[in-house]
Amino acid sequence: MRPIRIVAIPTEIAKVVRSTLRAPVYGFPAYEDAATDAAPCRHCLRLIAPGETRRILFTYDRFSGVESLPQPGPIYVHREDCSRYPEDGGFPEELRGSPRTLEGYARGRRLVIQEYVSDRRFEPAIESLFAHSEIDYLHVQSTTAGCFTFRIERACQSVDPSR
Ligand SMILES: [Zn+2]
Repeated sequence: MRPIRIVAIPTEIAKVVRSTLRAPVYGFPAYEDAATDAAPCRHCLRLIAPGETRRILFTYDRFSGVESLPQPGPIYVHREDCSRYPEDGGFPEELRGSPRTLEGYARGRRLVIQEYVSDRRFEPAIESLFAHSEIDYLHVQSTTAGCFTFRIERACQSVDPSR
């Protein structure tokens, strides 16, 4: 399999949300509560354990830093500090158990192909999407909830000009 980069939301975004309880860029109030279901934190890419942990729900543009066309939606982060998922960590094991949609995008926010994965085997789908030269990056979405989870890039080709 070709090397990939797992791109969780930037640490700076998580910090701003935790300190202001407002969505960066949008300014909408963020919502803090106790976890009642096992939603993933988009910063550490671990599941937020129900009953044990507080979480923050806020509005985030999933194309931030990559495209000029935004598409904001709700995402969760842990209320307390957590470590950003390592970019070379491979597909996050804690997120393997729930159905996810891999969306293959070309620059300009053009959706080329999507694959639904519900059998825990994400690597073959990632490999087959990146075999298409017109696909520049992937978004991983929850298939059941529809929310953005993280981005995947080819390790040799970042799509974020700031990196
Ligand atoms: Zn976290």
